[in-house]
Amino acid sequence: MNSEKSHQLFKKAEQLIPGGVNSPVRSFKHVGMSPLYFERAEGPYLFDVDGNRYVDFCLSFGPHLLGHSHPKVVEAINVQVKKATSFGACHPLEVELAEKILGFYPFLDKVRLVNSGTEAVMTAVRVARGFTGRSKILVFDGCYHGHSDGLLAKAGSGVAELAEASSGGVPSSIVEDTLIARLDDFTSVEKLFQKFPGDIAAILMEPIPANYGLHVTEKELLQSLSAIAKKHGTLMIFDECISGFRVTRQGACGFYDMQPDLVTMGKIVGGGLPLAAVAGKKNIMDKLAPVGEVYQAGTLSGNPLAVAAGLAVLTELDQNSPYPGVAERTQKFAERLQNVLSKFYSVRVRQLSSLFWIEFGEGSTSFPPEISATDKKTYSEFFRKALEAGLYFAPSPFEVSFMSVTHTDEVLEESLKKLEKCLKGL
Ligand code: PMP
Repeated sequence: MNSEKSHQLFKKAEQLIPGGVNSPVRSFKHVGMSPLYFERAEGPYLFDVDGNRYVDFCLSFGPHLLGHSHPKVVEAINVQVKKATSFGACHPLEVELAEKILGFYPFLDKVRLVNSGTEAVMTAVRVARGFTGRSKILVFDGCYHGHSDGLLAKAGSGVAELAEASSGGVPSSIVEDTLIARLDDFTSVEKLFQKFPGDIAAILMEPIPANYGLHVTEKELLQSLSAIAKKHGTLMIFDECISGFRVTRQGACGFYDMQPDLVTMGKIVGGGLPLAAVAGKKNIMDKLAPVGEVYQAGTLSGNPLAVAAGLAVLTELDQNSPYPGVAERTQKFAERLQNVLSKFYSVRVRQLSSLFWIEFGEGSTSFPPEISATDKKTYSEFFRKALEAGLYFAPSPFEVSFMSVTHTDEVLEESLKKLEKCLKGL
């Protein structure tokens, strides 16, 4: 595989951009190589600047359930770009998209459009605090909710429930209202409610954690969390940036038949353009400015180009449900992938709907899972072999893989054949 042009670009980028990248995982640091530069994508394929083609199992970390450059999405963007890219004012499509989103999540009353998952979660947390008049937020070790200051927190090494900042530049005072529990230990949640009764504004969680491998939460746990939240007047926030519009048409809420107070949505909802959303019950959402006193704003929020793309995707999902088909293909593929990889590694492939995760090593039952140094090294080795075979997975052992409707049986069959050949060193 020739990557000379990518390599040259990265050398230049390193001089101009911190670490050469605009988001850390893109640096390929976890897989010990310099990143590839892509110039085009279509359906299940990515094309790099050196002319290599890859089957894409990363799909921009989730947005492209319909595959890259879906004709209806491209058309919607083309139509809109000729009219305007941004008004900084109201426009009809945002009303249409709001109606569409709430059509997918009918138990939610109102939605606000923002630019990224980080912003959506930040807004959900602020509105939960504003609504309850409380300051603390309970999150789970191993879940990711974007890079807002208060959520860049990890379990402290001293008194277990006291969080520490997980990033430089975040003062400890900012994470002191962030409480961290363990998803595999409900008593850790109970203890926090005992210790801070009446102080916890919200439980914020990925209902299907997919940022530290893939973890399938038990429905009973979600029900227990919902019950304890209700008992204490605490709101439930489901961060559905990954699971929303993907695991079912109503995300994890549909999968588990749960109705949290607030839901954050990212990725698919913007059709691959910068758009995310926070939705909730009317009485909570009406705390947001300009009706309520909780401030939130954005020059490009509800940007017409992103809204047009999101609307095209959700309309397609509404009209031609891909869910059972893509989930079935992913399940079959995950099984076959596990069979192929098992010939070379100790591995298991976890799968849920159109998400899957390759876990090397012994496998872990706890959450967050143990990923040893050896398993990380194995992932790097696998990642490079997969690239040689023309398969692109996320450049990190922590990240899950995604499937789209364009990953047909033929595409997947060919991918497995090429991968096995490469792993055999043929
Ligand atoms: N929440 C979850 C569950 C996510 O997976 C992500 C991004 N991977 C975010 C929030 C942050 O979204 P963004 O990168 O768009 O800011």
